[in-house]
Amino acid sequence: MSIPADNRDAAGLEQSPELLQHLLEQSDLLVLVVDGEDRILLFNRECEKLTGYRADEVIGQTVWSTVIPEDEADSVRGMATRLRNDGGTAGFTNHWRTRDGDIHLVRWHNTLFHDQADCGYCVLSTGIDITAEDEARRAHRTTEHELRALVDALPVLVAHLDGSYRIRFANHGYRDWFGLDPERQKGKHVRDVIGHKAFAVLRPRFEQALAGEQATYYGEVPYALGGTRFIHGTYIPSHDHAGSVDGLYILSVDLREQERLRRQLTDETRRYRAVVDHAIDAIVTIDEQGIIESFNPAAERLFGYRASEVIGKNVNILMPEPDRSRHDDYLRHYLETGERRIGTGREVTGRRRDGSEVELSLAITEFFDNDRRQFVGFLHDISARKQAEREARQSLGEMAHYNRLAAMGELTSGLAHELSQPLTAVHGMAEAGLNMIERDTADPGQLRKAFSQIVRQSQRAGEVISQFRAFLRKDRYEEYALHDPDTLMEEALELIRHEIEGRGIRVKKAMRAEGECIEINRVQIQQVLLNLVKNAIDAMDEVDGDRVLDLESVCDNTANECRLSVADTGPGIAEHHIGKMFHPFFTTKDDGLGQGLPICRSIVEAHGGSLKFENRRGGGALFTVTLPLRQEGGES
Ligand code: ADP
Repeated sequence: MSIPADNRDAAGLEQSPELLQHLLEQSDLLVLVVDGEDRILLFNRECEKLTGYRADEVIGQTVWSTVIPEDEADSVRGMATRLRNDGGTAGFTNHWRTRDGDIHLVRWHNTLFHDQADCGYCVLSTGIDITAEDEARRAHRTTEHELRALVDALPVLVAHLDGSYRIRFANHGYRDWFGLDPERQKGKHVRDVIGHKAFAVLRPRFEQALAGEQATYYGEVPYALGGTRFIHGTYIPSHDHAGSVDGLYILSVDLREQERLRRQLTDETRRYRAVVDHAIDAIVTIDEQGIIESFNPAAERLFGYRASEVIGKNVNILMPEPDRSRHDDYLRHYLETGERRIGTGREVTGRRRDGSEVELSLAITEFFDNDRRQFVGFLHDISARKQAEREARQSLGEMAHYNRLAAMGELTSGLAHELSQPLTAVHGMAEAGLNMIERDTADPGQLRKAFSQIVRQSQRAGEVISQFRAFLRKDRYEEYALHDPDTLMEEALELIRHEIEGRGIRVKKAMRAEGECIEINRVQIQQVLLNLVKNAIDAMDEVDGDRVLDLESVCDNTANECRLSVADTGPGIAEHHIGKMFHPFFTTKDDGLGQGLPICRSIVEAHGGSLKFENRRGGGALFTVTLPLRQEGGES
């Protein structure tokens, strides 16, 4: 081989083959010489290092069978052909495959020269392995690409301006904000994109950034396409390689939606506050420990505390004993088990700042504020209502009493009859005893018999009197107790037994209540039953046929009620009387007062029940008293 003629003189290498050899060995360049048939003539140390082939292994082999990857053979051949045809030098880049199968990218500089020995030509190629550089460039390109995609995807407007406010870069945010193609904004003055007015507003911030200081803007700006936008803008100085400020970055967030939500929230909070502050009900919120968190003006008026005095204190200060000591336990029990002691609505007693008590209705709701449980209590002063209820009950009690007195007037003949029997017996026994003593024929055995008869009959008379007295007694409405409805019915019948027997009435009973199942005021419910029985008897006065008083009782556990019915075989209720039956003073009797049924209904309703009537299919009227069954276990 020989060195290309152009280089000969400069290097003077022809005279120094050792120097050439040395140069080839020391060079960092890959040096390769191939002949006209692409056989390798020279393969320097650097080529050996890169490929793992020794020179003596590849010299004489074609590059195709050694270092050129198969899939690049055609393109490299094409380049070699062009070099041979065109002559001179050419640069190209291709891959080399190493002994281990690794692929390297090499940038070649190729020179064609003639081999004077065999008159053919050779190609001298010097190359540099640029694999690492290529990878770095690729990586850089990928990162740049990803960053660009990221910046475009941001829901933020991003731009880079130079020192004269010309756009160097704009992300896709520009399309969303201004409907402009970001690529076409390059070089434009930012004022022509965002509009003069916005530019005037933001310019001081831009200038601040250009002066090297980061700036922000939070507020409304005129919008190029009309109206305004609420933005949060950040303006950051950008620097050149020498570290001098050469422009600024703009990052702008459109806060219209957030601002709308913030305003909505503020409005709602204001509205909520107005409702709470002007609510008639006291509203008190507490946390899981029972600590008061809010106390509205109505609560201040109700309890006499100022909000600032009670917020942070245990809510039990608003309660009298025993609730005051127990409230922490109630709350703990609820948190542990979820079982409420207080339902959604309930009557409770509150304690004012001055220690006085107040009757309240209380409804509680529970809500979570960021996972924090809170309870809201709505309290309403019901003292006036309770007082009115008490007064209503009292006047009902008085009316009922007069009604009983009136009924009694009609029962006096029965009373006289009830009393005359034992009194006659007493009289007879006493006279007989007296005779025995006077005639001196008194036998102790006979006398004991007479006296014990006297005792028994006078007891019986006493019982009759106390039964009537009990009925006439002025009851206190609060005297509620558990009673057996069947016993009450028997007692009512006993009071009016004389009338029933005297008028030839047959009593049919189907009493199936189960013991003490109703919690009632005994005298009042007895009065109701007596009134109904008396009306039934009166109704059968004109009946020629069978006079039957039908009495029934049943406890319906499903409906949670006890039903007591009184029916007769009288004429029933005339059609045109049906709407008037409970009107005060409605009566069809000559001596009637028309007070019985209205009072009966008031009594039953005050017990949480109802009084209804209907005409029986076979004739006669049926009156039904419905009362709630007593609650098992009471309220929790
Ligand atoms: P009073 O017995 O003084 O008339 P009530 O209020 O007890 O007053 O009864 C009102 C009216 O209802 C009676 O006068 C009567 O006309 C009618 N009434 C009540 N019970 C019966 C019944 N069992 N059958 C038919 N009519 C009845």
